[in-house]
Amino acid sequence: IASKLPDTGTTIFSVMSALAAQHQAVNLGQGFPDYPMNETLMARVNEAMHAGFNQYAPMQGHLPLREVLAEKVAFLYGTAINPDTQITITPGGTYGIYTALTTVLHPGDEVIVFQPAYDSYIPNIKVNGAVPVLIDLQFPDYKIDWNEVRRKITPRTRMIMINTPHNPTGAVLSAADIEELRATVAGTGIFILSDEVYEHLIYDNIPHQSILRYPDLLERSFVTFSFGKLYHCTGWKLGYCISAPALMQEFRKVHQYNCFSCHTPSQVALAGFLKEKDSYLQLSGFMQAKRDYFANLMSHTRFTPMPSHGSYFQCYQYHRISEEGDADFAVRLTKEFGVATVPVSAFYQSGKDNRVVRFCFAKKEATLETAVERLLKV
Ligand code: PMP
Ligand code: GLN
Repeated sequence: IASKLPDTGTTIFSVMSALAAQHQAVNLGQGFPDYPMNETLMARVNEAMHAGFNQYAPMQGHLPLREVLAEKVAFLYGTAINPDTQITITPGGTYGIYTALTTVLHPGDEVIVFQPAYDSYIPNIKVNGAVPVLIDLQFPDYKIDWNEVRRKITPRTRMIMINTPHNPTGAVLSAADIEELRATVAGTGIFILSDEVYEHLIYDNIPHQSILRYPDLLERSFVTFSFGKLYHCTGWKLGYCISAPALMQEFRKVHQYNCFSCHTPSQVALAGFLKEKDSYLQLSGFMQAKRDYFANLMSHTRFTPMPSHGSYFQCYQYHRISEEGDADFAVRLTKEFGVATVPVSAFYQSGKDNRVVRFCFAKKEATLETAVERLLKV
């Protein structure tokens, strides 16, 4: 067939997880937890099914879930969101991103994307006939050069995509970055897609710079979230998108004829679970402890850490170990030492290789210990 994505191969997450399984490696590559999810939340799904919540949810999502999300946004970010017109529950964050892009992109439109970029962004842009305009985050701190952003804007620029906390680097945007963003889009018709799937996985008491704090920017934004990432249940594939009413109306036109609605019992369960503020307020401390535990173990190896202020990823350089490219190094680490990672070059369209590998630390302590015992031999 005439491929719509001729340059796209198999996602690195599938590739590295398959390699990990083949070599019985500890899988610190693809981002998913290996510990059990919350028992209460699980029990609530069971209760919801027994209570008869087994048919289609409304197209926009289960209303009590949208209501509790609006309460949460008001509490955390001080912004009033209308649950009827501004929130749609989606089957995961990836779907929310795809739907937002499909909602606004026309063939030939340009989308500014920062690299390294989460691997779905660029194919999602291209499949819509639009053009990714790539900007490298500055190495090694992965900050945005806003002057370069302004230089790359053209009359065809339709959207800027941001992701904070950032996958794969763990970098986070500051209030100053948001001011730069505001100045950059002022007076233009440029939309923003803000991927905030790691909303609560932010550390060192740094505030999360959600677009939801900034009503003027929300007017032109789609903000996407993932319950799977936050509640240690990536297999649920459930998330949501928040935007201005006019944008959400168009988003729903795409969504209603794609999946229509999402798994009902888990929406009912989350609606109850999220009433407790602790369900999200304790997430940062929980995951920061894992980051610190892993970093401490890794400090005895020859890997060189890079800062991670958020997400559940930690990047390491390995120049004290090898001069190989990161893809070769990651394969060898899996095959010879039994630890799978993700080479960060996979997040660059050009394959740019700064010789960095990404580790996922959302794992049981015992898993992290086994991995690092092996890495000590590298
Ligand atoms: N964006 C980023 C940056 C991610 O890391 C992920 C998680 N893989 C997603 C979106 C998608 O989340 P989900 O699994 O809910 O589709
Ligand atoms: N977000 C996860 C990661 O970055 C994986 C998601 C996926 O496998 N599609 O590892």
